[in-house]
Amino acid sequence: MRLSTHDTVQRIWTVRLHSQPGGLLLSCLHCTLPGYRLHAAAARSAVLGHLARHAQHDALPGHLRTCQCRARGCCWHPRRRGCAGPVLLALTRDRSGRMWRLADACAACAGATSYTAVVPDTLLGPSRVQPSTRTAQRNTPPCGPGERLRVREMLTYLAVALPRFSSPAARLLALQCALRADHEGHVRLPHGFLRGMRLQGRSELWSELAHAGWLACSTSRHSPVGARLLDAAMQTQPSGRSARARAAHWALHPVPLTTPRGMASSVQLTALTLAAHTSDGTGSAELDVLTRLCGQSPLHLEDLLNQLVRCRLLATWRHISDNDEISWQLPGVTGRTAPHQEDESAPGPRCLSQTPSAFRT
Ligand SMILES: [Zn+2]
Ligand SMILES: [Zn+2]
Ligand SMILES: [Zn+2]
Repeated sequence: MRLSTHDTVQRIWTVRLHSQPGGLLLSCLHCTLPGYRLHAAAARSAVLGHLARHAQHDALPGHLRTCQCRARGCCWHPRRRGCAGPVLLALTRDRSGRMWRLADACAACAGATSYTAVVPDTLLGPSRVQPSTRTAQRNTPPCGPGERLRVREMLTYLAVALPRFSSPAARLLALQCALRADHEGHVRLPHGFLRGMRLQGRSELWSELAHAGWLACSTSRHSPVGARLLDAAMQTQPSGRSARARAAHWALHPVPLTTPRGMASSVQLTALTLAAHTSDGTGSAELDVLTRLCGQSPLHLEDLLNQLVRCRLLATWRHISDNDEISWQLPGVTGRTAPHQEDESAPGPRCLSQTPSAFRT
């Protein structure tokens, strides 16, 4: 995959990282400012922050936003299935992580583009899912579509904001931090809370996120773990903190895919990702999307889905090679077919059968 460096149309911003002695140089094609130096650990969050500011500054009403991928003949992705869905902000990096592009793209094009995540609008502007009153907050069910949507958006964002091989436990921790942070990016997680997540004393996870340049933390033995999220998008989250907190709470027990205590973090993250894509007992998502959100290779994802079947959280799952999607069904869903399910007579774990698209370039 190549990211074009000749984008002149609005709503596409591209930055590049150049190796320099002692660090990296960030240059932006959109602003004429000279590049500035940064440490490698802070590069990813500097890139995201820079691009997010461009998107905020050049905000355009929704009805004027068009799919920039389509405007270029859909050259950003290999499959041509036509544009579909809402126009979103898609964040794409090239394979080396040296070139980053933020652009308006329709949901279909964003979903088909490698190394791409949708940036939640909630990170860049007024929240789309904001309860209007306290009463509304109290009446909102704890596992409503709003919580699922928020978690899905944040997982999607973290899939690009964090390094590709971030551990599942670090991703779960980052998700809680992102959803519980205040509007300046500060978060405090009490030891009891971390104990509940089975992450107490796991200082290596904080180190992993710190090494990725995503947060800086201050730990002490008795007081809550405090951290400041360095990702600029996390420091400008608009209001709606209580709604985010509800989403964080749901993410700990993602009904109806709540894993039994003691399951590995990789299983928990997979169950949470599926739960965020499930409604009415069935769900589906592109294989590429699931591998990115779960931080797993397609082969490992297959194993994790089989584990979910073995512990009876899933009734069945299958890979639909036509459109490279995974679909699944929860136990107790009868009389209906899982989305796109082709052969109901062959339930049970199925194998991924074709070249994984997650590593397509
Ligand atoms: Zn710029
Ligand atoms: Zn396209
Ligand atoms: Zn499109």
